Amino acid sequence: MDRPRITIFDTTLRDGEQSPGCSMNVQEKLRLAQQLDRLGVDVIEAGFPIASDGDFEAVQSIAASLRRPIIAGLARACTGDVDRAWQALQGAAHPRVHVFLATSDIHLKYKLRITREKCLEQARDAVRHAKSLCPDVEFSPEDATRTDVAFLCQVVEAAIAAGATTVNIPDTVGYSMPEEYGNLIRTLREKVAGIDRVTISTHCHNDLGLAVANSLAGVQAGARQVECAINGIGERAGNASLEEIVMAMRVRPDRYPYETAIAGEHLYPSSQMLAEITRVPVQPNKAIIGRNAFAHEAGIHQDGMLKNPLTYEIMTPQSVGVPDSRLVLGKHSGRHALALRCEQLGHQFERRELDEIYRRFVVLADRIKKVQDSHLLELIQDVASGNVSSSDVTGGKGKKFPPAAATLQFPRAVSAAAGAHASDSHPAQVSGSAGQASVSIPFTDHHSEQEDYLWGV
Ligand SMILES: [Zn+2]
Repeated sequence: MDRPRITIFDTTLRDGEQSPGCSMNVQEKLRLAQQLDRLGVDVIEAGFPIASDGDFEAVQSIAASLRRPIIAGLARACTGDVDRAWQALQGAAHPRVHVFLATSDIHLKYKLRITREKCLEQARDAVRHAKSLCPDVEFSPEDATRTDVAFLCQVVEAAIAAGATTVNIPDTVGYSMPEEYGNLIRTLREKVAGIDRVTISTHCHNDLGLAVANSLAGVQAGARQVECAINGIGERAGNASLEEIVMAMRVRPDRYPYETAIAGEHLYPSSQMLAEITRVPVQPNKAIIGRNAFAHEAGIHQDGMLKNPLTYEIMTPQSVGVPDSRLVLGKHSGRHALALRCEQLGHQFERRELDEIYRRFVVLADRIKKVQDSHLLELIQDVASGNVSSSDVTGGKGKKFPPAAATLQFPRAVSAAAGAHASDSHPAQVSGSAGQASVSIPFTDHHSEQEDYLWGV
């Protein structure tokens, strides 16, 4: 029983990083990319090389250090962008150039100020140029869902003829409805010559909370790649959430009989690592990886859970890598338990680092009864950045580590396990994206007035 394989294209480091407060430096991007590799994503969109030197460097270093996944670099549909993306991808074992160009009349008229004919020509030329450099070329008609369907078919057909191997259909503004999006994919499959030779991809935004539903509708209609991001981060309301897409297919194979290569046990560590790096917490009730996702409070639910977890659990916490709450970290916990929990949170340490973390952990555990994951992540952060932890300060800021809430011990339930909510005391959530400050656009051939769409798709 061979189920169709869905390619998971992760854009946490590109579209995700464009969300306010989520910018990352090169080292942080590399660290997260390594985690995405462990998670098993097929494609990592590592950045937008022409956007800034930092983005270029990040793509370059990720391309040089990860050998398994495809590494994609984004480019607008012009020679300069494509060349810069290709340059950043030089060290990649499996490079992909991702070219995008808006196709909706609204974007053509007000943003690009070009005609449909010019748009068609520009898409064809850019894909052809990308193809002359790189065998793996993805093309995205930006704002596809608000594009005249006949014209969209024409552009996609031209991109395929010019050598695109993946065509991505972005719902850039999160406007589409699931049935509508599915129908659009079906129409493309019916009308576009050569489309059966390429992979169709989804890229859905969450402005109406439908990014995951739209992506799944796209898959049911024949798309075989899904673009998504950890914790659903991305422009505005975000992208389709990777963990939700993957688990929807895994929990409901009767409806979505598709396979992905994602290692479920790395979902939670990946989510935690992203929250820790960006200091942007995950909402408590976030599906799959929120700290309440496996918590049960109502008495009748608790009763059911104690009798049999199947009463209220459609997946186990372990299947998505949420640590078992029975392993409570307190002052009697040993080094081994601490190392294990760190590992579950996506951190592996050398002996000396672990010694330092353990030392601080014991001081902290002495003050508060139970050390939550959020406390531990903060402590790890302190050690990594060489800060004197508040756990070292006698009678220090009690507010930083509030006493942990009581946790009910269900057979497999975890409550308050996630808790990337420790950012209260951090100068986090600085609005605006630091990466955007250094945007440089050396190639202005037909982009002199197009800076505003540097952060597109
Ligand atoms: Zn996007």
